[in-house]
Amino acid sequence: MTPHRWALLFACAAVVALVTAVLAWQRRDRTFAATALVVTMTGVATWSGASVLLYGNGSETARQLYPSLLMGAVGVVVGGIYVFARAVVDPSWRPDRRTVGLLAIEPVVMAVLAALPATRALVMSGNGLAGTGIEEQVTLGPIFGAHTLYSYAVIGLSYVRLVRRWWTAAGIFRRQIGVLLCAALIGTIGNVVTIVLQLDGRGTDITPLFFLVTGLINAWAVLRLGFLRLVPIAREQVVDTVPDAVLVIDPDGVLIDLNPAADQLLTALRPQLVGPDRIGRLLAEVAGEHAIAVLNRTERLDGHRVVEVRPGLWLDVRDTLVSDARGRALGKIVVARDVSEQEQRRAAVEELNRQLAERVREIERLRAELAEEAVRDPLTGLHNRRHLDRVLAGDPGSGAHDDQLAVITLDLDHFKTVNDRFGHMAGDTVLKAVARLLQASVRDGDTAVRLGGEEFLVLLPGADREQAVVRAEEMRRGVAAVVHAFAGEQVRVTVSAGVAVLPDDAASAAALLEAADRALYTAKATGRDRVVAAGDARHGPSDAPAPEPVPAV
Ligand code: GH3
Ligand code: MG
Ligand code: MG
Repeated sequence: MTPHRWALLFACAAVVALVTAVLAWQRRDRTFAATALVVTMTGVATWSGASVLLYGNGSETARQLYPSLLMGAVGVVVGGIYVFARAVVDPSWRPDRRTVGLLAIEPVVMAVLAALPATRALVMSGNGLAGTGIEEQVTLGPIFGAHTLYSYAVIGLSYVRLVRRWWTAAGIFRRQIGVLLCAALIGTIGNVVTIVLQLDGRGTDITPLFFLVTGLINAWAVLRLGFLRLVPIAREQVVDTVPDAVLVIDPDGVLIDLNPAADQLLTALRPQLVGPDRIGRLLAEVAGEHAIAVLNRTERLDGHRVVEVRPGLWLDVRDTLVSDARGRALGKIVVARDVSEQEQRRAAVEELNRQLAERVREIERLRAELAEEAVRDPLTGLHNRRHLDRVLAGDPGSGAHDDQLAVITLDLDHFKTVNDRFGHMAGDTVLKAVARLLQASVRDGDTAVRLGGEEFLVLLPGADREQAVVRAEEMRRGVAAVVHAFAGEQVRVTVSAGVAVLPDDAASAAALLEAADRALYTAKATGRDRVVAAGDARHGPSDAPAPEPVPAV
């Protein structure tokens, strides 16, 4: 192959390396590995460029420039690979000045040695294109050997790092690292081949041609595999960043690791202990006996325990057992989240609910009271006509549907006279006294009603005529027996009553009341202060007209 063809091939390698460098440069914001790849690929491009110069030009100047250019480029590639491997393994890693300085020493020394005419031959010398062929262009010197050993030590270390990362990586990241390793390996194989071919101290450096493949694979990885775009985040970083407290406990209950959130939490629980002192101690010691005791007596709900470890400090604690591949217990991971705010909100909502329930009960009580008031007569407290109508219309539980129903209507005799003589207030007092008496004389299931004015009614479900008349008589006597004192006078009031019974006297509730009214009318007409049963004989002390309310004897 002619030197110019070689030059063309090396130029291709240089272009591919530069394109890869540009692709990586565009992604430099994403990960530092991109910058490292730019450096490496620039080194490869320079390396190839040096060969282009040597084979394409071949002048004395080119031959003198070549060794130092090559040594500098190789140094950049080696350093680049080192930095690249570290950045891929740990995306948060950045080279410090010292690392950069150390990596620069060897290439600078080599480039200087290769540049100085006095020492150049110790590294290598370009023999020129004169005569026979390409293989005779470069002669390697003794220092080159040392340089090779150094380079391979650094690259070897980088490979070890990458392989270890590949071993533990998963998914797309594992594929990415695998592809990178293969690509780097191809370049390295090219270099090994070159060195083996040059073992006699002469020969052509064909490494850049292998780097042509390396660059192509890297470019493919960048464009197609999401390399430099999808960057894994180290687990430690994740754990350190999560707001939850994460604690690792060994099987003996000793704390072996914790994240910053856990450190803060433990500080809140036991401020006496400072951060680093916590590791290696029993959890009960670093979290406090009280917190552990509360935790232990709390039952798990869906694997969670919500506990108040300190007044006002609520934690949602979840622990997960960790075991190795053989199932041996390694300990557990405890994740605790501060849920104090939620708990406070929950408590506030519960308190609101309690208050609301109380209000509802109060409203219910008021409503019942109102409902009761609506069916009560305000003066006497007896039921009113509305209630009577409801009962007679058949309100459930009213007893109106019993087979038998007796009704007594009562009307005070000459009541107007009481008002006229002693005043309305006195009349009210009498009405209240009569009401009390009627209320006292009714039994369970009976209903005493003030129909209005001085008219009253008593419903006696289940009572027959006989019984109703007896009860009406009791009431009449009871009313007559009461002595009122108004304006220094003692006054008695009498009452007339009419009794009617369902179904004997009427077929309906309305007819029953009418029948009772008629009986009452008869009682009034036949002398008052008496009881008359519907369509029946008269009951009462006498047939003579009752006297008007008079001062008691
Ligand atoms: P009778 O024996 O015929 O029933 O004679 P009476 O005077 O009782 O009958 P009347 O119906 O003529 O009079 C009823 C009186 O009752 C008229 C009214 O002043 C009085 N009255 C009605 N409601 C009330 C009340 O709420 N308080 C008082 N103090 N009096 C009332
Ligand atoms: Mg009346
Ligand atoms: Mg009257």
